[in-house]
Amino acid sequence: MKVIFLGSGGSVPTKDRGLPAVLVEYLNELFLFDCGEGTLRQIMICSSKRNGKNKEKNEKINFMNINKIFITHFHADHIAGLTGILNTMNFLGRNSNLEIYGGIGIRNIIKNLPVPKDAMQFVKIYEISEGQVVEGRGYKIIPFKTQHISESLGFVFEEKEKRKFLKEKALALGIPEGKLYSELQRGESINFNGKVINADDVLSQPIKGRKIVYTGDTTPCDNTIKFADDCDILIHDSTYSNIDIDKISDHGHTTALQAAETAKNANAKSLFLIHISQRYPDSKILENEAREVFKSSYVVKDFMSVQISAPPEKKILIM
Ligand SMILES: [Zn+2]
Ligand SMILES: [Zn+2]
Repeated sequence: MKVIFLGSGGSVPTKDRGLPAVLVEYLNELFLFDCGEGTLRQIMICSSKRNGKNKEKNEKINFMNINKIFITHFHADHIAGLTGILNTMNFLGRNSNLEIYGGIGIRNIIKNLPVPKDAMQFVKIYEISEGQVVEGRGYKIIPFKTQHISESLGFVFEEKEKRKFLKEKALALGIPEGKLYSELQRGESINFNGKVINADDVLSQPIKGRKIVYTGDTTPCDNTIKFADDCDILIHDSTYSNIDIDKISDHGHTTALQAAETAKNANAKSLFLIHISQRYPDSKILENEAREVFKSSYVVKDFMSVQISAPPEKKILIM
């Protein structure tokens, strides 16, 4: 499972930072969270073989593999990139479905984008709110309410729990390898030598999957702490430094220090600070501030990626 940051800035793009867009790669599927202006270009840069730096990082991604897009809210810095994505997918002949999820109003926004009608045929739009879980093979995505100046959602990307097949236990029960193993692995009971064997007899306790949480734009809020509980990666709004806290009263954002407090309270394993204001050309100041409270804090850079190894280890590797 990998997170690729395509845009780490907020509100205003800079030469170093694009607008918010976070890609999650899981089992060959790509999930895009937010789609600021320029996201398509960022994807193409990632996909380019000629970019030596990215090649080293093995970042080659196929943009046509994006099957689901999740939008936190409708401020332009989070949605203005959709036009380019839809237009280009259509131009390249996409016919498989692209699902777009967002709060109430996303349907109207998508329908009114300046893209040809044909470009909409493969687009499926879903208006969702907190608790409406989107499930797929091995994962679930859970929207939750955040606190911004407009209605806004955050998203939990969670790998489903898995149970390991304990072959030694099956062998001890005398069950031969083959078809019966597959049935037990699927959690089914089997009849063997006139006895019922339950899957529980040969499966491990459930192993917790990997969990990534992306807040989008928000002030610090209890709901984030609740939904980010025990997550491996918390990607949190960190628009400001705490030294500017007096300037931010009504902007609906968070300081690096506040994001660190949230990560600590949620018992997160790592914190990635995103939506960095252009007023901090040296973002070290934000990282240092967050680390005072929460050691595993990192300021996101464009094209940075983070890998989480399989459970139960779930080691985090930043590239
Ligand atoms: Zn924003
Ligand atoms: Zn916003």
